[in-house]
Amino acid sequence: MSTIDRRKFFQLSAVAAAGYLAIPSREAQADDLPHLTADDPMGAAMKYTDDASSVDPATRNNPAADQDCANCALIQGNDGDEWRPCQIFPGKTVNAAGWCSVWAPKA
Ligand code: SF4
Repeated sequence: MSTIDRRKFFQLSAVAAAGYLAIPSREAQADDLPHLTADDPMGAAMKYTDDASSVDPATRNNPAADQDCANCALIQGNDGDEWRPCQIFPGKTVNAAGWCSVWAPKA
């Protein structure tokens, strides 16, 4: 793991852990959470967008096609919901059709 990858991993782990501790009932509160925006500081840092189709696949770290929040391993909440919690952005919801640079394939 490179230094940058390791740093990013620890940053994201800290964010995810903070969200887990701060929001014990994340899914029950999903409808009440604000939507993440691309200009949110954390969203901007992770290149979040509400529209995955606006992202040039060539710029992605992971070359897998058809990436969006709905098929990301880090999404939470219920399939079919437009806005869902995400492990990376505690306290906010992300658009199921969105995307960020942390996207990971489901196992
Ligand atoms: Fe969407 Fe996955 Fe990024 Fe969360 S980590 S915003 S679910 S792509």
